[in-house]
Amino acid sequence: MTAILTPAPPLPADEVLLGGEWKPGRGEVLTPTDPATGRALGTIHAASVEQVDEAVRRGIAAAHDAGWRGLLPHERARYLTRVAALIDRDADSLAALQTANTGKTLAETRALVSSAAGTFRYVAAALETLEEAVTPSRGAYLTMTAHEPIGVVGAITPWNSPIASEAQKLAPALAAGNAVILKPAEWTPLIALALGRLVEEAGLPPGLLSVLPGRGSVIGESIVRHPLVGKVSFTGGTATGRAIGRIAADKIMPVTLELGGKSPTIVFADADIEHALAGVMFGIFSSSGQSCIAGSRLFVQRPVYDGFVAQLVARTRRLRVGPGTDPTTQVAPLVSTAHRDRVARYVDLARSEGARVLCGGTAPDGPEFADGAYYLPTVLAGLDNQARTCQEEIFGPVVVVLPFDTEDDLVAGANDTAYGLACGIWSQDYKRIWRVAHAIDAGTVWVNTYKQFSASTPFSGAKESGLGTEKGREGIRSYTRQKSIYLGLNDTPLPWANP
Ligand code: NAP
Repeated sequence: MTAILTPAPPLPADEVLLGGEWKPGRGEVLTPTDPATGRALGTIHAASVEQVDEAVRRGIAAAHDAGWRGLLPHERARYLTRVAALIDRDADSLAALQTANTGKTLAETRALVSSAAGTFRYVAAALETLEEAVTPSRGAYLTMTAHEPIGVVGAITPWNSPIASEAQKLAPALAAGNAVILKPAEWTPLIALALGRLVEEAGLPPGLLSVLPGRGSVIGESIVRHPLVGKVSFTGGTATGRAIGRIAADKIMPVTLELGGKSPTIVFADADIEHALAGVMFGIFSSSGQSCIAGSRLFVQRPVYDGFVAQLVARTRRLRVGPGTDPTTQVAPLVSTAHRDRVARYVDLARSEGARVLCGGTAPDGPEFADGAYYLPTVLAGLDNQARTCQEEIFGPVVVVLPFDTEDDLVAGANDTAYGLACGIWSQDYKRIWRVAHAIDAGTVWVNTYKQFSASTPFSGAKESGLGTEKGREGIRSYTRQKSIYLGLNDTPLPWANP
């Protein structure tokens, strides 16, 4: 790392992890920036396309080496447990690094670091419980279902929740016996490089992990296109996911795609209003709305609409906006001024579509905010669900409120989107909750809570929000190839051929 302008936290060296060796990146110069101040944290050389090829070849060799492929599940699990312990050991510095590079509050980055350690620990434990199935035979043979490593897996992650997103791919892909080429987002490469150091320190056989920062259109695409990469696990926007899916179709390569969302949060008239307000606000404004599962369309049943929206606006105005390093901050800066300006353009679009801006709708005033990527939490009303503001992912602290009358209207409106990632329902009528939870197109439905996660619970998206599953035991299986093995038990030769 050169040209460091901020003294702390300690930044990773300006090197990429290339199949077991730290080497200078041969690609373009990236400048990770602190979104709270706009200052560069330093510079880092991205990997080159040639280095992608070298990493994949080293990965193939490492994945096929008996020192990894030959390990039994409980032996591989030990490495993952060690990675978890090292993440815990370095939790404070990892969280500080993450806050510096993403702007997120320290409370949130500590939670993400802890979740990453938890993912490694859960996957290690789950790995020891994954059984091969003996299926009912229909002849003189024993049939088994085996699950084998794919080889080299490409893991491509976005900037909004680094370390948690990376762990969610790395831990199961390694557990399944693969090598991994990890490409973090261009804006937030630092935490992935720091994680690479910890994986190396955990003593995994060299070559199994490469961390190659770089531009998605260059390094990301060359990972996806590489003929020896056998699977890509991608988290990011739907447009990028679609492009990756097209390349995968040509290669006949499996992909896991965790994509965007425009998730409905729903407040029925019988809801516990305090719970609903707390859940709705956390669902959209935590992480400054930069969350795939952000509850960005709020449906409120007409009898409580006015009172609920008035309370929402009053409480949103009281949210504390500030730098992620201030323990009192609730809404931290967005990841970059470029992204903040994109969010601002969406709010301008909403105005042109006829929205009333009930609060927010601008960057905060004051010299302390002048250089940071700040945007006030914003509540919009008066739009039809067909408006672009209601249909397109804004990925910022912006919620659109929409009234509804009947359950049927609600289900039709909530499902009237290309996305299907998540949903929140606040009601006390468990029969209605049951009906609506099943009727909404979403991979995850939270009832009287929101944005809670468990490493053991599968996560996926419906419609244009994704393909495939992460987390849970299915998440580990998704990094394997299923194979059926028939063991003949005949005492005599098969009868068809002549003796
Ligand atoms: P993005 O632009 O799609 O980028 C995601 C990653 O893909 C980055 O590392 C990016 O590199 C890379 N990339 C870009 N173009 C590529 C290409 N042609 N081939 C291969 N890789 C490429 O998304 P983002 O803006 O970073 O993240 C925000 C999006 O992620 C939102 O839509 C959000 O909903 C979604 N997300 C989904 C989930 C989920 O679990 N469903 C979780 C978190 C975020 P660069 O950084 O260089 O562009």
